[in-house]
Amino acid sequence: METARLVVVGGGPAGLVAAAEAAKAGAEVEVFEEDREVGLPDHCAGLVSSSGLEAITQSRSFVVGKIKGARIFSPDGRRYEAKGPGVKAFVIDRPKFDVEMLRAAERAGVRINLGTRWEGGSDGRVLIIAEGTKARVSRKMGLRPAASIPAAQVDVATNAFDGDMAEIHTGGWAPGFFAWVVPRGERARVGLASYRGVPLELLNRMLEKNQYISSKVRGARRSAPIFGKVVVGGPLRKAAGKEYIAIGDAGGFVKPTTGGGVVLGCLIARIAGRVAAEALEGKAALSSFEREWRKGFGRDFTAMKLAAKVFSNMREQEIEGALRCLDNEGLLGAAIGYDMDLQGAVVSKAARSGAVRYALLPLLRSIL
Ligand SMILES: Cc1cc2nc3c(=O)[nH]c(=O)nc-3n(C[C@H](O)[C@H](O)[C@H](O)COP(=O)(O)OP(=O)(O)OC[C@H]3O[C@@H](n4cnc5c(N)ncnc54)[C@H](O)[C@@H]3O)c2cc1C
Repeated sequence: METARLVVVGGGPAGLVAAAEAAKAGAEVEVFEEDREVGLPDHCAGLVSSSGLEAITQSRSFVVGKIKGARIFSPDGRRYEAKGPGVKAFVIDRPKFDVEMLRAAERAGVRINLGTRWEGGSDGRVLIIAEGTKARVSRKMGLRPAASIPAAQVDVATNAFDGDMAEIHTGGWAPGFFAWVVPRGERARVGLASYRGVPLELLNRMLEKNQYISSKVRGARRSAPIFGKVVVGGPLRKAAGKEYIAIGDAGGFVKPTTGGGVVLGCLIARIAGRVAAEALEGKAALSSFEREWRKGFGRDFTAMKLAAKVFSNMREQEIEGALRCLDNEGLLGAAIGYDMDLQGAVVSKAARSGAVRYALLPLLRSIL
């Protein structure tokens, strides 16, 4: 059978959602996934906002935890908390979630090729590049991949962490970024990403030397380390060309503040799928993807990128001071009321705080 005119490279959530959307819009579309199964290896912490998941699928068969808030630890170990009455986020089993997305794409009429790597360029077809952080096809098409930082995680067989709270540990445990604990039933996924140092060494150090964490994980069985790359650079300046659209991690559609890419990756993939289908019918140019994603998400990405840049340059005492200011002004507690995905509003609220600006003035002067 001849390859379809619309090819999606990569059967992760972004590729599968884009493919389903294109098929629903009437395109003949084919997904190429180099692994024999989707969702593996499972390198994702699996934390997604409940509102974001709602917008993607009604299925909950892959949910393994419900999160009501976050506990943020300052570099000195001071604890801050933002918790709401309801479920703010779900912890999902990514392999199961990806299989759900695969089934949805199949139901929409997408042809799926598992265990088949796409080696070519566009070869006269329209390509939706959803290859994650691997960037082989992106490079072939002349794209420079979005910036990413290395991450390491382990699953720890313990229920010692609060089952409805995600944890964020800032400071030297994960220089420039943060470490996290995401509870999932009888286990917790503990990990970090960092701008400096070797993530696995940093993770082992945290598991042994962080008093709070080591007291919770001591003696508990640990999985082999799980590695991955967290995209932090924000969307590519030009994610659509004449013959391609880059989406998901490949397009940089990941929150630079947290590295979370499932929700926005899927929502923006829908735009790509529809635009690609229209382009095949000559109704739109692929470049209209740029306009459309920016209309819905551009401001939020700009704000998140700025916030991430400031945070990654903060020294420990600046993080300490900023958290104290945000807490004193009631902003940390109030953050739970804001959208977890479209973070423009919460970033600008924090940026308007005089105390935070004062605490960070020297830093802001040096990097902005
Ligand atoms: C440590 C870590 C923790 C994370 N935690 C979270 C979290 O808690 N919440 C969240 O929202 N996000 C999280 N993320 C980010 C999230 O995992 C990604 O944003 C998301 O998986 C991106 O989806 P994608 O479809 O773009 O790419 P991927 O899920 O990476 O899928 C890309 C697919 O393309 C395939 N592929 C690549 N090249 C080819 C080729 N040439 N031919 C065929 N197939 C190919 C790959 O095999 C892969 O299956 C985390 C990331 C990391 C690294």
